[in-house]
Amino acid sequence: MHPGIDRDYRYLLSRLIPRHLLSSERLAEVERVLDRGGRAELVSEAYSAMQELTAKGAFLSDGITRTNGTVSISYRSTEQSSTITLVMTAAEWGVIVGSHQGVEGILPSVFAGIISSLSLNDSPKTITVRIEEMLSLAGRIVEGARGKLLFVNTIPAIREWSPDTVAFLPLSEALKRRFYHSCLTSGMKHSFIRLSGERSGGGAFAIAEATKSVFMIPLLARDIKWAILEVHLTGDSPPDAGAISNLHILGQGIVRLLDNNTQLEKMVSVDRLTQVHNRNHYELQVPLEIERANRNRMNLAFLMIDIDDFKKVNDAFGHEVGDRVLRLVAQTVRRSLRKIDLLFRYGGEEFTVLLPGTGADSARRTAERIRGIVGRAEHTLEDGRKVKVTISIGGCIYPLQAQNENQLFRMADKALYAAKEEGKNRVVFSGD
Ligand code: GH3
Ligand code: MG
Ligand code: MG
Repeated sequence: MHPGIDRDYRYLLSRLIPRHLLSSERLAEVERVLDRGGRAELVSEAYSAMQELTAKGAFLSDGITRTNGTVSISYRSTEQSSTITLVMTAAEWGVIVGSHQGVEGILPSVFAGIISSLSLNDSPKTITVRIEEMLSLAGRIVEGARGKLLFVNTIPAIREWSPDTVAFLPLSEALKRRFYHSCLTSGMKHSFIRLSGERSGGGAFAIAEATKSVFMIPLLARDIKWAILEVHLTGDSPPDAGAISNLHILGQGIVRLLDNNTQLEKMVSVDRLTQVHNRNHYELQVPLEIERANRNRMNLAFLMIDIDDFKKVNDAFGHEVGDRVLRLVAQTVRRSLRKIDLLFRYGGEEFTVLLPGTGADSARRTAERIRGIVGRAEHTLEDGRKVKVTISIGGCIYPLQAQNENQLFRMADKALYAAKEEGKNRVVFSGD
C-alpha cells in the first residue's frame, strides 16, 4: 500500500491536494468532513475533490487499478511532476460508485483531456470544436440525447458556431418564452419539459422529430445567468439520477472551458497596466477593421496618441506615479470614445485608436475632444500633489489619406511627429 495516503486521508485533504484550486463549495465540504467526518466520508470527499481537480484540468486521471480487494485511483498533476493516489478497499470504492453514479465511466477523463489541452495558442476555431465535442458527450450520458448550448448573456467572440448546437438569445427575450422561463427563474438546478403536440415548444433550437422532451441546466458564471445547457431527449421522462449528475458535470465542464477561454482572451488582448487593448490585439484588429471598412464602404479613422514630456513626469514623481498617470490617461481616453471605437496601448506611453465609420471632420472633432479632456484632467497624488499631462495626436483617414495598413500607420506617425514639432498638446492630421 502507499504509505501516508492509504491511511491518512486527513493528511491528503489538508496538505496534499491544491486546495486553492477547489471551488468554494467543494472546499467547504472538505472542511466539513475534516472537522466531523469519519473514514468513509473522508475517502469519498477525497475522491470528489480529485474529480473536481481533474475536471478543472489540474490533474489527469491515470485510471483505476484493482488488486486483491484494494482499489487504487491515480492522478497526475498537469502542472507539477506529482501524483496523488487514493487507495481504498473494494467495499469503500463500491460505496463511492454507488453515491457518484456513473462516474466510473469515461466522462471525467474526457473532460480533463479537453480542458487541459486548451492552451494560449488555441485558435477560436479549436475552442468551438471543443465545445461541440463536449456537447456531443450528452449522447454518451443519455442514449440518443443531443446537447445544445444557448447563450443568454453574451456569446463569446468565437466565430463559426454551428447554429444547430449553439445559439444566442438575450436574457430579456428568453425570459419571455415559456420554454425557458422556469429554467431561468425557478432557482432549481435543472428543469425538464415534456413536449406535447406543439413541436416547436418556443425554444431557440429546431426540435427534431425524435425529440420528446428537453432537460435544461442553467449555467452560471460568477453568479451571472449565462447560458443554458439544453439536452434534447428521445424519451419522455427525465434522465435518471446518475445521468443527471453527469449532465451537471458536463455543464460545469463547459462553464470552465468558456471561462478559461475568456480569461485567455483577456490575457492575450488586454494590457495589464492600463486595462485597454494591447499591441497584440491591435495587430489582429487593424486588418479586420480595414476589411470591414471596405465591405461597408466606410471610412476608418486612425489616431496615434503620445503623452507630452512624459519623461519629466517620471523624473519629477517617480516611475510608480508615472505608471498611475499612464493608467488614468488611458482610462480618460477610453471614456471619451464610443463603444465601437478601439483603444490600444501601442507601447510605452503611446496609444492608437481606431474609429470605425468616421470621416475627416468628425475624427478631428473627436481627437480635439480627447486632447481637451486629457489636458484638463488633474490627477491628485496621495500626498496632495497634482499632476497634469497633455497629449499630442496624429491622425489619418482610411481610405482617403492612406490605402493600406502600413501607410495608415506611417502617415499618422508623421502627423504626430509634426504635432510634437509644432509645440505639442495639439492635433495634426495627415495632409494638414
Ligand atoms: P515627447 O513629448 O517628445 O513625447 O516627450 P516624452 O518625454 O514623452 O518622450 P518619449 O515619448 O520619447 O518617451 C517616453 C517616455 O515615457 C520614456 C519613459 O520614461 C516613459 N515611459 C514609457 N513607458 C512607460 C511606462 O510603462 N511607465 C512609465 N512610468 N513610464 C513610461
Ligand atoms: Mg513616446
Ligand atoms: Mg511622449
